[in-house]
Amino acid sequence: MTYLRAVDPFPLESADDTKLHEFYRSLASGRLVTTRCLQCRTTAWPPRGFCGECASDRFEWVDLPGEGTIHAFTVQEAGLPAGFDGPRVFAILKVGGHRVFAALVNADMAALGIGQRVRLAPLRVADDPKGNARWLPAFTTA
Ligand SMILES: [Zn+2]
Repeated sequence: MTYLRAVDPFPLESADDTKLHEFYRSLASGRLVTTRCLQCRTTAWPPRGFCGECASDRFEWVDLPGEGTIHAFTVQEAGLPAGFDGPRVFAILKVGGHRVFAALVNADMAALGIGQRVRLAPLRVADDPKGNARWLPAFTTA
């Protein structure tokens, strides 16, 4: 499916478009990473090009665990954005000390619950307008 940029719901992920491209490149290889400030050592989620604590723009990439637990979730059955089939489960997950908002894919709907273990399952979405693959962080029930 081809999306016009005006209705493209996904971020531009390539090195030409964002200094955070490493996040998406890592997702494509099955790793969840984020930024850590080189000045004050604060680890951010989501990854940031500058530090929310000290405003430094020097950072390194660090791995987060590929597993977590459900902190909260909701099921969306209508009004889904282009590119998403319903119903979709969106969750706030506890992952490595952070709260990560992500879709749950292939979730066992009847078994969903707070505290349930989940694992990273990066979601390939529509290619960008230049034909580069794009990935979003997503999880599945463990
Ligand atoms: Zn900092």
